Amino acid sequence: MKFELVKLSYGADELAPVISKQTIEFHHGKHLQTYVNNLNNLVQGTKFENANLETIVKESDGAIFNNAGQVLNHNLYFTQFSPKGGGQPSGKLAEAINLAWGTFENFQKEFEISGTGLFGSGWVWLASDKDGKLSITKEVNAGNPLTKGLTPLLGFDVWEHSYYLDYQNRRADHLKELWKIVDWKVVESRY
Ligand code: MN
Repeated sequence: MKFELVKLSYGADELAPVISKQTIEFHHGKHLQTYVNNLNNLVQGTKFENANLETIVKESDGAIFNNAGQVLNHNLYFTQFSPKGGGQPSGKLAEAINLAWGTFENFQKEFEISGTGLFGSGWVWLASDKDGKLSITKEVNAGNPLTKGLTPLLGFDVWEHSYYLDYQNRRADHLKELWKIVDWKVVESRY
């Protein structure tokens, strides 16, 4: 299977000022493209040559896992944003968030604390188990909740490459701003 760079449904400049055009161009056009290229090279001649991304993430380790994980993570990340995003989820997802954290605001606070507290590079995820029960998971490096048998719904990238040009060391400020561009319809569709 030949992996390709995920297409953006918005212009590189349209998520500003939450994420600048320059950050999108580096993050999507350079960092993610490198993971895609590496993955395509690494799977050649292995048992993963014709596997889909989710299978590779669940079954691989080492360099293949790192690159496949980062391709999957960024595919979910870049497709969950919209210039018209923000607000709150509705329907089943909103109910499940209220069940788990009491209020949407409490969930946001816990999510930000998890992302800010993650040491080094990684991701913070909202994930669902097979019964629809939600949790927040912290994953280092290329980690994804899939490897724990969970479904990833929303992921914030806390690698410095995702925010350093715009926010320098202020990861907490960046995470707080990201809520303004989350497309909850997309997140709900993953639930
Ligand atoms: Mn990234």
